Amino acid sequence: MDRSLLGYLYSRYSMAKSKLVDSCIFCKIVKKEAGATILYQDDQVTAFRDTHPVAPTHILIIPNKHIESLNELLDDDKTLIGHMFVIARQIATQEEIHEGGYRIIVNTGPDGGQTVFHLHLHLIGGQRMRHPLG
Ligand code: 5GP
Ligand code: ZN
Repeated sequence: MDRSLLGYLYSRYSMAKSKLVDSCIFCKIVKKEAGATILYQDDQVTAFRDTHPVAPTHILIIPNKHIESLNELLDDDKTLIGHMFVIARQIATQEEIHEGGYRIIVNTGPDGGQTVFHLHLHLIGGQRMRHPLG
């Protein structure tokens, strides 16, 4: 089967499952009920290394509260989203990829390739990024 179709179907399956079962892996990482290499945590956000890095640096920055995706973002979340970006910038500096540059990605929904339905920024760097996107 075509890899992109397989990814799409997996994303659809994950989204449906996340609505049926209260088993969000990222919520568990926030509460330290599941393991992760946490690089930063405060009362609003948590940042940890991705288990399947696509580049030398691949870090996920997530809100501590469960927000399924960008589609569920509220006006009240503006400060939180801003904070996530500030932390991304801070970690990029810490990882020493800020001068070379990096990429921030937010996959949203099945067409966007989202597989974990808890909002997250991918912070990816440490190599020259490939184009085109999409
Ligand atoms: P998405 O495809 O939803 O944009 O990204 C989900 C990301 O979460 C993927 O890059 C995947 O490798 C990562 N991921 C999935 N499960 C876990 C986990 O249990 N721990 C960590 N650290 N990363 C995970
Ligand atoms: Zn969650």
